[in-house]
Amino acid sequence: MHRGLRRHATARRGRARRFVAGTLAAGALALSLTGCGDSVDPIERLGRKTAEKTPATETPAKETKGAGSTAGSAVPSAGTGSPNTASDEAYKKWGLTAPLQYAPKPAQKPQIPKAAPGKVPVIDRIPVPADDKVVFLTFDDGAEKDPEFLKMAADLKLPISMFLTDNVASSDYGHFEKLRDNGSASTINNHTLTHPNLRTLSYEAQKHEICGQQDRLEKRFGQRPPLFRPPFGNYNDDTLRAASECGVSSLLLWRVSMQINNFQYADGSALKPGDIILAHFRGPSELKGATEIQMTTRMLQRIQDQGYRIGRLEDYL
Ligand SMILES: [Zn+2]
Repeated sequence: MHRGLRRHATARRGRARRFVAGTLAAGALALSLTGCGDSVDPIERLGRKTAEKTPATETPAKETKGAGSTAGSAVPSAGTGSPNTASDEAYKKWGLTAPLQYAPKPAQKPQIPKAAPGKVPVIDRIPVPADDKVVFLTFDDGAEKDPEFLKMAADLKLPISMFLTDNVASSDYGHFEKLRDNGSASTINNHTLTHPNLRTLSYEAQKHEICGQQDRLEKRFGQRPPLFRPPFGNYNDDTLRAASECGVSSLLLWRVSMQINNFQYADGSALKPGDIILAHFRGPSELKGATEIQMTTRMLQRIQDQGYRIGRLEDYL
């Protein structure tokens, strides 16, 4: 555990302390297991080896909002808890054997422990009740821009929290704008300008990476993103302060990572209620020939296999 993080963890008490400590431990574990954004370019520049592994036993199978706003009304199942009708018709088209189930917007938001003054809170799992089998979809980086994926996401009304890195996503930000505005209330969030390992950078350099992307995204999409995810899940005290300075409300991690065929878990061997699932906008060159759609289909099948519903992350924060 990073020294600064341990200080942060030990400064807290009671439930909050347990939550943060668990968050930090899991964050470190998630990092060691999966690495966030192990897309080719950033990894190569860092000289890091991708941590992504695909189980050897597996073989590849086949995977609105109005402009300027990302919060609000078009949640697939908000207030009903019943399957979305569009998905009822679309699921077969996208390789599923049953309609996806969506969690309604919760009547009461879960209690997220507050951060110390001047810092953003770190969230790696949404603290929902133990029997609330809901998970959340997050997609990172932005290298792949497959038009078919836009159709899939729109058909299935997938609420996706995107975390975009400017130097890979900006060649076609319009792609992600379409994804945001497809009626599923997906959102666009910050994943730095250039995908560095923030722990190697000074406070000022971190602030440039985070605030710079806040500015870019605000200018392009009309809203300053509320959420930030550090590349590779790597952060320190300076990150938490810089993110706060840049107007971010939360630092989002994960404890489950979608690989090419299956999930990789930071702890345990199954989804847990409130899990934030990390996936990437990746194409065949990064998925050993599998497409973004194939990867996503498998991910959704795994979610269904385990009896989970899909929630909209922002409805819980
Ligand atoms: Zn990333």
